Amino acid sequence: MKFRTRSIHVGNERDPETGAVVPPIHVASTYVQHQAGEWREFDYGRSGNPTRKALERTIASLEGGTHALAFASGMAATHGATMLLESGDHMVAGADIYGGTYRLLHKILSRSNVGITLANSRDLEELERAITPQTKLLWLESPGNPLMSITDLAACVEIAKRHKLLTAVDNTFATPVLTRPLELGVDIVMHSATKYLGGHSDVLGGVLVVNDDELFDRLYFTQNATGAVLGPFDSFLVSRGLKTLELRVREQCRTAEKIAAFLDADARIGRVLYPGLPGHPGHDIARRQMCGGFGAMLSFEVAGDFETAKRVVQSTKLFQLAVSLGAVESLIEQPASMSHASYDAADRAKHGIADGLIRISVGLEDADDLIADLDQAFDR
Ligand SMILES: *Cc1c(COP(=O)(O)O)cnc(C)c1O
Repeated sequence: MKFRTRSIHVGNERDPETGAVVPPIHVASTYVQHQAGEWREFDYGRSGNPTRKALERTIASLEGGTHALAFASGMAATHGATMLLESGDHMVAGADIYGGTYRLLHKILSRSNVGITLANSRDLEELERAITPQTKLLWLESPGNPLMSITDLAACVEIAKRHKLLTAVDNTFATPVLTRPLELGVDIVMHSATKYLGGHSDVLGGVLVVNDDELFDRLYFTQNATGAVLGPFDSFLVSRGLKTLELRVREQCRTAEKIAAFLDADARIGRVLYPGLPGHPGHDIARRQMCGGFGAMLSFEVAGDFETAKRVVQSTKLFQLAVSLGAVESLIEQPASMSHASYDAADRAKHGIADGLIRISVGLEDADDLIADLDQAFDR
């Protein structure tokens, strides 16, 4: 079955008892056993739940994996993956990762005596130099946040394999519609399901997807032992979102391309960071790595400073001033004061996140309306 068919049918098989075309939401926290000590497929809601499992089957199929685990949030999923590391281990992460991931690595994981080095993942030599004999995990994100930097995942996997590292990719921005890292040799795909997978700004969730039984067992053990599972109602909402994932992402990409072209031609705007623009430094890799679209996230710099950018993000009417992304509603934000405020100011400057940078998440509204909204905000 093709991607869109799987997004509707895998994990959504009709209920055998009632014939319901949408499987019921299973809310039970515990399950009756045939005999003491004889466990059936489901025994307790933290260890497994049919509604959560249905979602895990769908997303595993869409990412080309064999197993998935659904977590209470994207950060819980990332934490679940980093718990593979032990005291004395080291990990390398791409420099422009999600702000919350930066905070988890530097403020929580570091407490367990795990070393962390951020490296520019577009510079393969710098990336390889950051690897030490203790390095166990390489964490990447493409497109990167908030500069939409493109990392050549296949090339990074080659380096990781040479050093026997696990590779994990936060695929939240690209979604499996545009990039399927497991097919490129990546070991773990992570998503904030809060974004495109859910797609409607009404649920928080996270997933990990793998195609290796042993790695799945280790991640499952950690998730069951620590407990940050996704609840049944939230699992249902993400499952419902997945049915329209491809349609939404393709249309949002088309609108983002139009907005990028508008911004690129506008004299009031400085740099436009969108991988679909031929001038973007990652354009050629993105054309290879992202199939049929360049994503619906883009950033741009307004001439001026912190205050100018702040005025712009407060002047749009359709683009709502909020962090998060990937839903049907368009959003706008200033990374320096919002999504990346948890970065040290020095790290922000080092990674090129200017005070005048603005990030938008392009939703499903009409492209002309969105462009007119930005236009009036720039005038103000
Ligand atoms: C939102 C986000 C996360 C964190 O996910 P939550 O669901 O908010 O915990 C991680 N990575 C990226 C790229 C994100 O956008």
